[in-house]
Amino acid sequence: MSKREKAISIDTLSMRQLIEFDACTRCGECLDLCPTYSVSEENEAITPRGKIQSFKDLIRSQYGLRARIFGPKPISHEDMVRISEAIYMCSTCGQCRVVCPSKIETVELWESGLRRLLVKEGVGPLEAHDPLIKSINNYDNPWMQPRTARDKWAKPLQKAAKKAKLPNPVKNFAKEGGEILYFVGCTASYDVNLKQVAINTSEILNKAGVDFGIFGTKEKCCGSTLLRMGDWEGFERLAKDNIELFKEHNVRTIITSCAGCFKTIKEDYALVEKLDIRVMHTVELLEELIRDGRLKLTEPLEMKVTYHDPCHLGRHTGVYDAPRNVLGMVPGIEFVEMERNRENSYCCGAGGGQKTAFPDIVKKISEVRVDMAETTGASVIAHACPFCYQGLEAAVKSKGSAIKNMDITEIVNMSSGKEENSD
Ligand code: SF4
Ligand code: SF4
Repeated sequence: MSKREKAISIDTLSMRQLIEFDACTRCGECLDLCPTYSVSEENEAITPRGKIQSFKDLIRSQYGLRARIFGPKPISHEDMVRISEAIYMCSTCGQCRVVCPSKIETVELWESGLRRLLVKEGVGPLEAHDPLIKSINNYDNPWMQPRTARDKWAKPLQKAAKKAKLPNPVKNFAKEGGEILYFVGCTASYDVNLKQVAINTSEILNKAGVDFGIFGTKEKCCGSTLLRMGDWEGFERLAKDNIELFKEHNVRTIITSCAGCFKTIKEDYALVEKLDIRVMHTVELLEELIRDGRLKLTEPLEMKVTYHDPCHLGRHTGVYDAPRNVLGMVPGIEFVEMERNRENSYCCGAGGGQKTAFPDIVKKISEVRVDMAETTGASVIAHACPFCYQGLEAAVKSKGSAIKNMDITEIVNMSSGKEENSD
């Protein structure tokens, strides 16, 4: 069993984070609502307090009084891997941060503290993450897809418009500029089912007369996945490349389909460079367009709908009302909340690299979420994140559920009719 000779480095941990190890009172408030723990047969090591305790012990063994007198305790590679696995068994959903009475910034602690430390020590991310990391590094997307196919979803729209001698419905922002940059994101760009989110978004924006464009093959993964997994260098490279594009083309407003892209560009890019750009999730723009009368919802949709809060749109960035307000303005929709909603919403389980490394856990979590939606009697789960949609769609199929997943753009596109409807 190989042992480390020198102490692990704690350079990635801030003073606040070091204090947070002692701030955990082990009260257990974070246990009940943690989605990963809820399906993991009472595995204490993966609870927020378990994660904190194992690192507290580890750091004491390296920097405590005994370590100062007798030297740091050698740690075996196997022990480091065991600790690492517990830290990566987590979707970074942020529920523990919301409930923690000691106000521990748990997600920041996992992502920029502990996971980053594990990456530096060569035991993070996990082996199971290797293909994901390679794909992002080699193709700038996590789906092993070529860069040249990133704007393939837009081609049929552009071809149809050309044939009908209409203006380009999805402009190339780099060449033609525009009022708004639509940052499509990897999932809506490449997933065969979810490219419909990008198509619906474009059709709605055209109906409302919004001047927008995409970067197409120049757009790169926002870097969220790498940041959540503690790969700061990989994240920084992608963030810098995207920021360069934004600056080069004088981008003033960005909309995103994906909750992860939204949080990352709006908040995390500031860690690399502060930007004077308005970053909105699509649902926020839709709310504005409908309220301003630029987009009219004319077609009634007789559906009972519940809404799944994506963690990066809800708990992480506080956008709870816009998606509900949009759904509330669609004629005919009966809206019903799931018991776990808003800041206590139950995560789909897929984030933070958990889907790649622990698909069985994620399957269980997403099936629980579909159960919660079914309990409301809704026929539709409305979404504002292609990544959550993807996870819950798999759960709907594995459970054989009759409930239907729909992105909010699909609902709005149906309700706003076929033709351009702005004044
Ligand atoms: S809620 Fe906070 S203080 Fe309580 S056990 Fe969890 S992390 Fe520790
Ligand atoms: S962030 Fe979510 S999944 Fe991770 S430990 Fe906290 S509650 Fe559990």
